[in-house]
Amino acid sequence: MKYCSRCLYPENARPTIFIDDEGVCSGCRNHERESDFDWDDREKALRKILEEYKTKAKDANQLYDCVIPVSGGKDSHYQVHLAKNVYGLNPLLVTYNHAYNTEIGVRNINNTSNRFLKLAELDPKNALIYEACAEAFLVLLKFRTEEGLKNNSDGRYLDLNELSKLDKVKLKNTFSPINEVQDIIKNKFQLTYFT
Ligand SMILES: [Zn+2]
Repeated sequence: MKYCSRCLYPENARPTIFIDDEGVCSGCRNHERESDFDWDDREKALRKILEEYKTKAKDANQLYDCVIPVSGGKDSHYQVHLAKNVYGLNPLLVTYNHAYNTEIGVRNINNTSNRFLKLAELDPKNALIYEACAEAFLVLLKFRTEEGLKNNSDGRYLDLNELSKLDKVKLKNTFSPINEVQDIIKNKFQLTYFT
C-alpha cells in the first residue's frame, strides 16, 4: 500500500486519489492550486449566479430560491448560515432519516412542539402561552444539539459556564412559558402534587 508522503492518505482512499512520482497525492496537489484562485473574483461570480436565482424565484412568486440538503451537522449548518445570512437566500432545507436516530427520538422531536401548537388550537384563551412553549422547546432542543455535538454526548447537561451571556438569557427565557404552562395544567387538572 502506498501513502501520500505529505498527508499520509492511503492510495485506496475514497474518493479515488492518485499518487504522483514525487509521492504526493492528487488531493494535496489540488490544495496547492487553491492559493492560485482569486477568491474575491469567484465570490463575485457566485453572487451573480445567486442573484439570478433570487430574481427567478421572486418573479415566479416562489417562496424558496434554492434547496439545501441538511444533516443537522456543522457542514450543512454552515451552508445554511451562508445562504440565509450572508447571501440573503431563502433556502428550502431537506433532510432524511439516516437511520441512526431512534424512531422514538424522531417522533419526540416532531411531536413535542406540535403538541403545544395543538393545545393552542384547543384552548385559544391560553394560545399565546402554548405557542411560546412550542418555541421554547425548539430553543432547548437547539441548545441540546449544540452541546451534544460539542461534547459528543446526548447534550442533556448544559455547562452554564460555557454559554455566552446572550445564550444564558435565551435559555432563561425558555423557563417562563414552561412555568406558565405548568400552572395552567395544574389548575385544569387540579394537580396539587405537580412540581
Ligand atoms: Zn496528500
